[in-house]
Amino acid sequence: MRSRATPASEALTRRARAALPGGVSSPVRAFFKVGGAPIYLCRGQGACVEDEDGNAYLDFCLGWGALILGHARPEVVEAVRRAAGLGLCFGAAHRDEVELAGLALSAYPWAERLRFTVSGTEAVMTALRLARAATGRTKILKFRGCYHGHADGVLVGAGSGLVTQGLAESAGVPDGVTGDTLVAPLGDLEAVDLAFKLYGEQIAAVILEPVPANNGLLIQDRAWHHALAQRARQAGALLLYDEVITGFRFGFQGYGARLGIEPDLVTLGKILGGGLPVAAVLGRARLLDQLAPLGAVYQAGTMAANPVALAAGLATLRVLEGGEVYRHLEALGRALDAGAEACAARGGPRIHREGPMFWPLFSEVRPREAAQIPAPAAARYHAAYGGWLERGLYLPPSAYEVGFLSAAHRLDDVDRLLEGLPPG
Ligand SMILES: *Cc1c(COP(=O)(O)O)cnc(C)c1O
Repeated sequence: MRSRATPASEALTRRARAALPGGVSSPVRAFFKVGGAPIYLCRGQGACVEDEDGNAYLDFCLGWGALILGHARPEVVEAVRRAAGLGLCFGAAHRDEVELAGLALSAYPWAERLRFTVSGTEAVMTALRLARAATGRTKILKFRGCYHGHADGVLVGAGSGLVTQGLAESAGVPDGVTGDTLVAPLGDLEAVDLAFKLYGEQIAAVILEPVPANNGLLIQDRAWHHALAQRARQAGALLLYDEVITGFRFGFQGYGARLGIEPDLVTLGKILGGGLPVAAVLGRARLLDQLAPLGAVYQAGTMAANPVALAAGLATLRVLEGGEVYRHLEALGRALDAGAEACAARGGPRIHREGPMFWPLFSEVRPREAAQIPAPAAARYHAAYGGWLERGLYLPPSAYEVGFLSAAHRLDDVDRLLEGLPPG
């Protein structure tokens, strides 16, 4: 393979850094952890992306998981074209919001209502506001290593000890806001019990990613999930599954259905928009109908349920509904498992996987909690990253993000990944 040259990306990076903080619109895109300048992507087709210099990569980042069908899936592109021709924005009721809400709710048979937002961040904000209004309580319990968007109250995860009063992970977030966020380690029932013992009557909601995938892939035991759900119920706290990353990823159903757990509220994003900005919160009518205009919980959005964005989501979910994509993804996942040992034997990372999400970790440790991730493993990921780009593999530019497989990947793409992961 010819050596990769990136003069166009480098030139754009210089201009970007003069105009955008860090040259980016979202921090990890800056490539600060993996060194070098970011690559400027300009085209995506199937499982491949191309940068401004004409270098092609197999994409395992896929818009941070939004593109479960891969890039430019014909049904999705056609739906977006059609919708764009009919009107970019109405800011009014329209047919596709009824269609997409119905289709999304069909995957969550216990839920009755859905409210669209533009981002996962907003969906979580709305869900927490609803939970607080419905319970008349103020505190929330979250887990270290779970990401729920960039709203003040959930930008918390640091701290030590069993249960901590949240410490903001960002400047500009006042203690008054994070003081109502309790943080416990994932998988730790003792900490959950302590939280309920100390604050039981005050906890409005327990929020978690059912498959924590924003701080590495921290897969939890089924038994812990059940115990957590039971503790929340007992204390009168609502259970909020933040499925922005897991929703529609493992099948046309919620992750709760896989666990045999019915949460009270679910947030969706990423796949729901098929690559365009769509997110949502869903739940039973008695909760969701507390939203304005029916109820006293205010929430709104100029761009909420934008028709072009919804068209992409609707086309995506219609493909997923058939089930074929999930069978294909499982076959890819099994191929990844099958080659994982040989990859590790060649000095590559261990591959942790849950469905089509995978996490390459340069360690023998199987972390279940953010604090168990060895720092040197992250350093090795970051050091290996440049080589992956050279070998035409585009993975998330941070050791703490997970990779994704899509309907557009083929078995030989998985082989290329396994071949290319061991540092040269
Ligand atoms: C991506 C993500 C969010 C935030 O969604 P945005 O659309 O980026 O605001 C929230 N929760 C989880 C679990 C996510 O993966």
